[in-house]
Amino acid sequence: MKNNFILNKNKEIWGYTIPALDETDLVKTGFSTRIGEVFKGDRQSTLAFCKSLGIYPEEIKFCGQVHGSKVVRAPKDISSDADGLMTDKKGLALVTFYADCVPLYFLDTRHRVIALSHAGWKGTVGQIGKNTLAAMSKAYGTDPKDCLVAIGPSIGPCCFEVDRPVADRFKAAFDFSSEVIEPKDSGKFHIDLTKTNALDLIDAGVLDENIYTSNICTSCNTDILYSYRREGKIENRMAAIIMLM
Ligand SMILES: [Zn+2]
Repeated sequence: MKNNFILNKNKEIWGYTIPALDETDLVKTGFSTRIGEVFKGDRQSTLAFCKSLGIYPEEIKFCGQVHGSKVVRAPKDISSDADGLMTDKKGLALVTFYADCVPLYFLDTRHRVIALSHAGWKGTVGQIGKNTLAAMSKAYGTDPKDCLVAIGPSIGPCCFEVDRPVADRFKAAFDFSSEVIEPKDSGKFHIDLTKTNALDLIDAGVLDENIYTSNICTSCNTDILYSYRREGKIENRMAAIIMLM
């Protein structure tokens, strides 16, 4: 995926946008960094960041993010136990927060519907990507073949190391697990969360050529991004944003 880097006046990386989605002229997207910091669930810093990307929301919606796989409609069905939001409403910015977990941005170009889902390892195993498509289909008639999906920055297979019980969860959930789990001599396993989500979305009917991956590892880039794993139990997060125009 081509990332568009947004620089501030000191030439620091203030944020990213996702050209593959923005170029449709149907949406605007964003992902913040530690320089263009957005505070979790905070409207003021979210609005300031949006403005720097040329996004002017009439409304902003967050969700609880409990590492589940529930996806709800915004604004009417917002709930504190959701990890994904979807809407067909223009000017409503969907916003979720990250420090290593995987942001999934969805755009149904035919029905003009968007979604944004938070896929940690638990959400990935819970197939939140597939759940998002199923929820979009039920609410708006979305066909996965009409969707563009972007997978934003997250902890990469270089750094996402797990013990056997977690690897076993992936093995049980996905037929393609051998493609995404790499056993290490240490007895640990490295898992590719981006690829797991991409393959699961393809399995749900999204076209391979319509999936865009950022391939930026949060843990390898703590000069600009936050990593919960690398930095200890930090409270800081990056914001993912998508809004229909
Ligand atoms: Zn890494």
